[in-house]
Amino acid sequence: ATTFGIHDALKQLGIQDINPGTSTGSNNFSSGDILASHSPVDGALIAKVKTTSKEDYDKVMEAATSAFKTWKNKPAPLRGEIVRQFGDKLRELKEPLGKLVSYEMGKSYQEGLGEVQEMIDICDFAVGLSRQLHGLTMHSERPGHRMYEQYHPLGVVGIISAFNFPVAVWAWNTALAWVCGDVCVWKPSEKTPLCGIACQNIAAAVLKENNLPEGISCLINGDYKVGEYMTQDARIPLVSATGSIRMGKIVAQAVAARLGKSLLELGGNNAIIVTPDADLKMTVIGAVFGAVGTAGQRCTSTRRLIVHESMYDKVKEAVVAAYNQLRIGNPLDENNHVGPVIDKDAVKMYQNALKKVVEEGGKIIVEGGVLEGEGYESGCYVKPAIAEAENSFEIVQHETFAPILYLLKYSGDVENALAIQNGVVQGLSSAIMTNNLREAERFLSVNGSDCGIANVNIGTSGAEIGGAFGGEKETGGGRESGSDAWKIYMRRQTNTINYTTELPLAQGIKFDL
Ligand code: NAD
Repeated sequence: ATTFGIHDALKQLGIQDINPGTSTGSNNFSSGDILASHSPVDGALIAKVKTTSKEDYDKVMEAATSAFKTWKNKPAPLRGEIVRQFGDKLRELKEPLGKLVSYEMGKSYQEGLGEVQEMIDICDFAVGLSRQLHGLTMHSERPGHRMYEQYHPLGVVGIISAFNFPVAVWAWNTALAWVCGDVCVWKPSEKTPLCGIACQNIAAAVLKENNLPEGISCLINGDYKVGEYMTQDARIPLVSATGSIRMGKIVAQAVAARLGKSLLELGGNNAIIVTPDADLKMTVIGAVFGAVGTAGQRCTSTRRLIVHESMYDKVKEAVVAAYNQLRIGNPLDENNHVGPVIDKDAVKMYQNALKKVVEEGGKIIVEGGVLEGEGYESGCYVKPAIAEAENSFEIVQHETFAPILYLLKYSGDVENALAIQNGVVQGLSSAIMTNNLREAERFLSVNGSDCGIANVNIGTSGAEIGGAFGGEKETGGGRESGSDAWKIYMRRQTNTINYTTELPLAQGIKFDL
């Protein structure tokens, strides 16, 4: 693993010992099984990590619950100051961390850097937020009474994250949870455990410099079984889980069984509607980047292109031409557009989906396939493919986490396109390409897109941290990041104070003794 300075990057991130039994961050009491992290870039073993056993987990929870007692009593702006320092550390380590993200997950180096930038941005947001955790003041209906609401820290927040955003999703949760006065226990994806260790090392260093307990930021490593420790643990009032719908259904039930709160960020099946008035150039850039960027492994990746029949042939031709220009290869090489998918299981799912779409009557117009030979030794490089299909196909209804784009045709009004777009179980991201004001407003109206994210003249892929991020229906309904998403990380309390010598009851009720 010496290509593109990976070795140096690991060193800078405090991941030096790449033998079995490697230290996994000082707060990680790891004694469980060994988990090997292989890069999808070249198939090399990057490092082996010890997973967290149940005993280790209980020690982590002890550290977290004890740290909460200290942390919740620090004034929120002071908590913001710690997050500010954390953001500064991320600025210093942006390059090595971006490189590790790229190498362990397989996204391009630019996207790796972009992911770290998102962490920095959410830190900045959280610092400002630390002075704005406002509640409302309400007018009491009783004389001589004052009523208001306040937000208190919630406790230990459990974070379960997916492989495709191996660092940013943690930061979205943790930066907000920290300023809200919570402590966090994070289980990163078992496919990207080193990204977790690198982040933990950075957080631990900041906490140490400030004489704060490391339990404010805890890391546990392993697969779903380690995640289950948290979903079943009544000491964790909120579990924030990002990943597949299948996982979300299990996690939601486990957390609900103990009446805990869950914040779910699950799969998408995102579409761009291309209307007769669409700008063709913008459409092609938006659609192609949305479908092949991160090798189709974003929750907001464009999966369906719903094109008006009057534009269909033009759009098809332009998108196919763009696909022919794509360079597939090592994502750390900035000349390439498309890197690998995460592992060979993902390759199989991609192959099955292409088989299935043909079986269901679809027509492949850009052939897929697995690349072999020099530079493709990991076996994880696949060709982005396009198929003409119907929205009713089972495979089109399903989120395949790979670069496959389905072309769907609509005729008549934009309502017909909306029916196709909304006709799936997922509800994450959506977009319309149009210069027609009426169509744009219909898309955004109560009868329009049913997704958590609805864009006009922008693709489906990616989002800014300032807005609340998440989706409806089987995407899970959770919101993270900007706007007022912070409220889920706090417990809300309504306070009424009587400053008279009488005790009038609400609703005029009389209770004379
Ligand atoms: P995944 O569901 O396989 O795993 C996600 C995480 O959940 C992992 O850490 C895994 O160990 C854990 N997990 C799985 N089963 C669990 C259980 N029963 N109990 C506790 N933890 C459990 O998902 P993945 O393959 O890593 O990621 C891809 C999926 O994530 C896609 O569906 C994608 O759309 C989704 N995603 C959604 C968002 C969003 O914000 N909506 C963001 C990123 C990814």
